[in-house]
Amino acid sequence: MDLGIGGRRALVCASSKGLGRGCAEALAAAGVDLVLNARGAETLEATAEAIRARHGVAVTTVAADIATEAGQAAVLAAAGGVDILVNNAGGPPPGVWSDWGRADFQRALDANMLAPVALMTALLPGMIAQGWGRVVNITSTSVKGPIAALGLSNAARAGLTGYVAGTARQVAGHGVTINNLLPGTHDTDRIVSLDSAEVAARGVSLEEVRAARMATIPAGRYGSPEEFGAMCAFLCSVHAGFVVGQNIVLDGGALAVTI
Ligand code: NAP
Repeated sequence: MDLGIGGRRALVCASSKGLGRGCAEALAAAGVDLVLNARGAETLEATAEAIRARHGVAVTTVAADIATEAGQAAVLAAAGGVDILVNNAGGPPPGVWSDWGRADFQRALDANMLAPVALMTALLPGMIAQGWGRVVNITSTSVKGPIAALGLSNAARAGLTGYVAGTARQVAGHGVTINNLLPGTHDTDRIVSLDSAEVAARGVSLEEVRAARMATIPAGRYGSPEEFGAMCAFLCSVHAGFVVGQNIVLDGGALAVTI
């Protein structure tokens, strides 16, 4: 399927690895020029070079912490106006409710709610002016079903979800869509780190932790960044203009809800 977005420009945050990279690759495959971001410059540049070589699109890199105002300013200065914004950042650490104080919540809110809000505030006016734009926020299935050990994520992403629910309806009339993608378990460094925390806590092997987690997923496996990216690229396509303010779960059926 031709996604109809060849020649468009996208800012994909937190995209040197994992789900952000999956989105960047799928957009590049559709002919979209990219601005990529992550904190670590070396991996970011290697990812950019691989995408240039594979897809022949223009790729600009900005090594910066997207959770900070300085990082957002640097990324926005390099991006200029873009047609597509994919919001993403690292997820908060696991723990229990009694671990978390104000500073922990502030970090989680900065990364997983306030950074996406700041980038939308900066970039939506240009999209509205040109009568076309796409925003996809990478959140988590934790907004539909809480993951107890990820209370910081549950809280911050719920805030972003509420913001998107209203804002998506305010901008839709200008040809601009905002939607959220809710990953369940995907095979990335983030899940290796969460699985490793289980290994340390329970004294079992990584293989046992992975097998136990997979047993909770009806599809019987972890998701891949490639299939996640394909859904992101579809939401950014000309075909998805009537998809507004939705929360789309990609979790192999793990979340046991009817709708
Ligand atoms: P990942 O494999 O660890 O990749 C994270 C990417 O984001 C890396 O490129 C990392 O590069 C970059 N990054 C992290 N913090 C950043 C920051 N403050 N500023 C700029 N770049 C940053 O993680 P992932 O699995 O793709 O997860 C992406 C998001 O989805 C996270 O918020 C995660 O919590 C959420 N999620 C993931 C899963 C899953 O199963 N994988 C499930 C639910 C939700 P640098 O470290 O160099 O900055």
